[in-house]
Amino acid sequence: MEFRQVMMRRLILLGAPGAGKGTQAQALEERYHIPQISTGDILRAAVKQGSPLGHQAKSYMDAGELVPDSLIVDLIRARLQEPDTEPGWILDGFPRTPVQAEALDNLLQELGQSLEGVVLVDVPEPVLMERLVGRRTCTVCQKVCHVKFNPPPVNGCGREDCPHQWVQRSDDREDVVPTRLAAYHRNTEPLINYYQAKDKLHRVDGNRPSEDVLATLTNLLGPVV
Ligand code: AMP
Repeated sequence: MEFRQVMMRRLILLGAPGAGKGTQAQALEERYHIPQISTGDILRAAVKQGSPLGHQAKSYMDAGELVPDSLIVDLIRARLQEPDTEPGWILDGFPRTPVQAEALDNLLQELGQSLEGVVLVDVPEPVLMERLVGRRTCTVCQKVCHVKFNPPPVNGCGREDCPHQWVQRSDDREDVVPTRLAAYHRNTEPLINYYQAKDKLHRVDGNRPSEDVLATLTNLLGPVV
């Protein structure tokens, strides 16, 4: 029988806050030229712009709670119909509840697309806590660093045009992180079984250097064509 490598180009990165989904999704976007769709980034941009979506989402985000499913499903419905998603997409931070997962199944059916895989980036809870609380984000270019593991460079963040204003995201504060992790366990963890039952789930050890995690992911996604 002829061997054909499966090319994963429509996928979900699943995992707790701090698992490294954003970092990996950005690296995969660059390598495979398929967009990272981060609902957290879209919501933060909406809050910054002061749009109606931003106003509706802000109080939930500040408290570390999930934004209502209906708002998120509407934004994903619109985003997955933009032309840049035609060659594929990497969902980062969505779906986060069983309702969102079912809405995604229905939406993909409507769009005539299929989900090719779900990658669970697995990281132990104490590591997640340490990563989140020490994380700093540049308000200008959104690059992230870590006070201990990857300290912010003194002379710029790698982008000449960026004045690198490193701040702690309001929901990375020590008093908010436990609420976010609890929301993950309560609402998102059930999706592991949901996708395992559909035979879509791949587990990746995320408690390794990010280059090693990326190497595992690129093995899964297959060669760049
Ligand atoms: P993230 O950057 O993915 O950690 O998301 C930051 C915050 O945005 C979360 O704590 C939620 O308040 C909100 N958020 C992002 N994605 C979702 C989603 N799929 N469902 C509900 N809330 C979300």
